[in-house]
Amino acid sequence: MTTIAATEFLPLVATAGAARDSLVVSLHDVAPSTQRVANNIILELARRGVVTCSLLVVPDYHHQGLFTKDSQFVSWLRNLEADGYEVVIHGYCHRRPRRPNETMRDKFLTRFYTNDEAEFYDLDYKEAFRRITAALDEFRAHGLKPRGFVAPAWLLSTEAERAARDAELEYTTRLRTVRDFRSSQNFPARSIVYSVQSSWRRAVSHDWNAALFRLLRSNPLLRISIHPADYSHPEIWRQIVNFIDVAGDRRAATTYQAWIAEQRVRCGV
Ligand SMILES: [Zn+2]
Repeated sequence: MTTIAATEFLPLVATAGAARDSLVVSLHDVAPSTQRVANNIILELARRGVVTCSLLVVPDYHHQGLFTKDSQFVSWLRNLEADGYEVVIHGYCHRRPRRPNETMRDKFLTRFYTNDEAEFYDLDYKEAFRRITAALDEFRAHGLKPRGFVAPAWLLSTEAERAARDAELEYTTRLRTVRDFRSSQNFPARSIVYSVQSSWRRAVSHDWNAALFRLLRSNPLLRISIHPADYSHPEIWRQIVNFIDVAGDRRAATTYQAWIAEQRVRCGV
């Protein structure tokens, strides 16, 4: 780690607490159209002691318009960043047009698993680099300082990962891992995440995550990924809140950026 970055990270590392295990809550699909729900989630997390999390912001969510055109939204993000929340680039438009001649695997991942949202699933290097740098420029021009890139549905092609790295972003996450581009370390840590579009998906998600939460008890990093839609399903939201209450007793809430900084210090990167 360079001296400047190390110095910037140090206060966050100190608050994360060296001895305790960590909890990273990430809030996905943050955009002007989801701001009201996102804010309610952030407030409820704070009431339960989680006063920092990683906010995955989509620059032009579902082609609804660039978030930077909404000055009230930008101020809200800036205030959160100043309060210790992390702003992360989460795709560009969060949409992937269907292509001719898709394989069964392509169709499963991009339609059934993600509902046509896997924007970076098979982007080539050039287009991925263009979207990532355009996003980065928008964030920076409005005083925001993202360091990570997370693809919609965590589906990131090898070429697109190389583009994120070349754009000098520092890390990405996938469903099962956190990857630090600087150290090239891959940290195994499966995320809790819900699929809520139908009642059967909610039922499966609920039972699966109950088992997963028990399985992850001894993992040094627990990841809980929340989508705005989770908040409107009481049985799902109750379980998330319960996980947060239980995990919060023995884990320090942190962000991906701060958690990675802590691993770098530990490993002398
Ligand atoms: Zn997303």
